[in-house]
Amino acid sequence: MLEQSAVNRERRRGEAGGAMACAGCEKPILDKFLLHVLERAWHAACVRCADCRAPLADKCYSRDNKLFCRNDFFR
Ligand SMILES: [Zn+2]
Ligand SMILES: [Zn+2]
Repeated sequence: MLEQSAVNRERRRGEAGGAMACAGCEKPILDKFLLHVLERAWHAACVRCADCRAPLADKCYSRDNKLFCRNDFFR
């Protein structure tokens, strides 16, 4: 079981190039803000429960590289 209690918000550095690929949708992250979850970068909009699609702003749970909200993780 892996509990990710703190989602790190990071302001992207302004350098050109090197856009990181989102761990959720695998597209480059061009947004001003990205999230770090499970030591990978995500679009803020991609950090949501794989089951009920609820946004996971503060706390999320992971299994098989998918993210879940508390309710769905502990089902
Ligand atoms: Zn994404
Ligand atoms: Zn859920």
